[in-house]
Amino acid sequence: KTINKKKYYFGENGKAYTGTKTVSHYLCHFDKKGVMYRQIDKNKKMVALTYDDGPSIYTPKILKTLKANDAVATFFVVGSRVSTYSDTVKSEYKMHCQIGNHSYNHPILTKVGADTIKKEISKTNDAVKKVTGEKPIIMRPPGGATNSTVKKNVKMPMIIWSVDTLDWKTRNAESTKKAVLDHVKDGDIVLMHDLYDATATASQTIIPELVKRGYQLVTVSELAQCRGSKLKNGKSYFSFKKK
Ligand code: ZN
Repeated sequence: KTINKKKYYFGENGKAYTGTKTVSHYLCHFDKKGVMYRQIDKNKKMVALTYDDGPSIYTPKILKTLKANDAVATFFVVGSRVSTYSDTVKSEYKMHCQIGNHSYNHPILTKVGADTIKKEISKTNDAVKKVTGEKPIIMRPPGGATNSTVKKNVKMPMIIWSVDTLDWKTRNAESTKKAVLDHVKDGDIVLMHDLYDATATASQTIIPELVKRGYQLVTVSELAQCRGSKLKNGKSYFSFKKK
């Protein structure tokens, strides 16, 4: 049974589905009126591209590429930048990209105390909510650094990565492209940074090439959900491979 051409999907009670629902082997998103705006085939390959440290002046270039390829990504935003780039955050949200928490001032959380950790997280969640109306439900610790104090005080699922592009170090589009395209596999979480023009340029190749290879570009939460993983607060996740 294909649902590809259906705009609505009705449950057994005759009511149109809203929110996120699994229909057959598809994860589907419906808006409040029941119109389906996105569907992911759980049986097909998928990957979550993630961009940290933004938003920045280069983020719109990435969004444009995503849009042109009917793709989404996850943006782990730095809270202190959110109000300056509120229009960009709004665009991310409207495109159904996921907005994650990357702390407020980007300290290495293993080097600060419990109170600072809590403030870094809550201030960013509040800053995003002010712009989009929704608080992030996942976070990425700066530098990927965690310890027991971080785990205890973050109180959100912590998303690390399985493909590290080192784009922040090389700032070279060619090397970022290679880092992704030579290594990416089904279920990977790819780490990039929307703070560099080279990364936005690399994304102009990476995104259509992944689509061409048959990957669905999904958010971190979609990837977790498609792979049957219920995210737990304080736990670290590196990828979501097929079980
Ligand atoms: Zn960072």
